[in-house]
Amino acid sequence: MQMFYSARLKLTLFYVFVIFLISSVFSVAIYRVLSHELDRGLRLQRLRIERPERVLNPDITLFLYPADTQILKDELTRIRLNLILIDAAIVLVSGIAGYFLAGRTLVPIEEMVDEQKRFIADASHELRTPLTVLKTESEVALRDTKLDLSQAKNQIKSNLEEVAKLQSLSDHLLTLSRYEDTRLSLDMRKIKLLEILEKAKGNVLPLARKKRIQIKIESTQIEVSAEEVSLIELFTIFMDNAVKYSPLGSIVLVKVKTEGKKVTVQIKDNGIGIKASDLPYIFNRFYRADMSREKNKVGGYGLGLPIAKSIVEYYHGKIDVISSPRKGTIFIVSLPL
Ligand code: ADP
Repeated sequence: MQMFYSARLKLTLFYVFVIFLISSVFSVAIYRVLSHELDRGLRLQRLRIERPERVLNPDITLFLYPADTQILKDELTRIRLNLILIDAAIVLVSGIAGYFLAGRTLVPIEEMVDEQKRFIADASHELRTPLTVLKTESEVALRDTKLDLSQAKNQIKSNLEEVAKLQSLSDHLLTLSRYEDTRLSLDMRKIKLLEILEKAKGNVLPLARKKRIQIKIESTQIEVSAEEVSLIELFTIFMDNAVKYSPLGSIVLVKVKTEGKKVTVQIKDNGIGIKASDLPYIFNRFYRADMSREKNKVGGYGLGLPIAKSIVEYYHGKIDVISSPRKGTIFIVSLPL
C-alpha cells in the first residue's frame, strides 16, 4: 500500500536523523577531547626535549611551550576525516537497519488497518441486505395500484421486521465498539451473580418460551466485583446462543462454581454444537458457522461472541468452549474474584 510505503520512508528518515544527530554530537565531543589532548601531548613533548628537568611537574610551564601548529593541524584534519567517514558509515548502516525496523514497526498497524477495512466491508454488507429488502418491497408496493389496506399493513409489518434487524445490528455494533474501546472505564460494584444470571435469563425468556426450552440456573450466593449491565449483557449472549442453537423442548443448564480466586460460569446446551474447524473463528467479528446459517433458520450477525470476548477481557477473565456437533456446547466463562 502506497500509504504504508511513504510512512515507512518517513519513519526511516526519522530514525536516520536521530542517529545522525547522536553520532554528530559524539563526533564533535570526541574531536574536542582529542584536539585538546593532542595539543597537550605536543606541548609536553616539547617540554621534555627542551627542559627535561621540569618534566616531573610539567603542568607548571606547559603553557609557555606552544605546540607545533603544523603537526597539530595535520593530525586534526586526519581525525576530522576519520570521524566524518565513521559518521557516514553509521548513517548508511542505520538507514538500512531503520528501513527494516520501520517495516516491522508498521506491520501491526498495517494489520489493524486491514482488519478495520474488513470490518467496515462486513458491516456494510450486513446493512445492505435488510436495506435492499426494504427498498424493493416498498417500491413494489408503491407501484401496485390495487394495493388495499390489509396488504399495505402487511407491507408495513414486513418493513418493520427489516427495521428491527437494522436496529439490532446497529445496537450490536455500538455495544461492540463500546467494549472494544481501550479507554473504557466501568463503574465496579459488588453484585450478586445469581441476580445477574436471573436478569440475563429474563432477557432470553421470550425465545426460550417459544421453543419450550427450560433454563436452569445452579448457583450459590456469590458476589463479584463488576459492572452490572456488562455482566448481564455477557450472560445474555451465552444464554441467547444456547437457546437459539438448541432444539425445541431441550434444557439449558447454567452452573456457577468457585475455584480458588476465580468464579466460573458454565452455560451448557444440547444443541447443534460447533464443528472443530469452526471453533477457532467463532470469536471473530461477523463469523457464523455454516450450521447456524443453514436454511436461514437462526438470526444473528456473528457479533455476540466478539462482544462477550471484549467484556471478559475487560475483567481479565477467559472463555473456554467444549463442543461437539449435534451433541451440544459448553461455554465456560472464568472471571477473577
Ligand atoms: P450469532 O449472532 O450468529 O449467534 P455469535 O457471535 O453469538 O453470533 O456466535 C457466532 C457463531 O458461533 C454462531 O453463528 C454459531 O455458529 C456459533 N455458536 C455460538 N454459540 C453456539 C451454541 N451455543 N451452539 C452452537 N453454535 C454456537
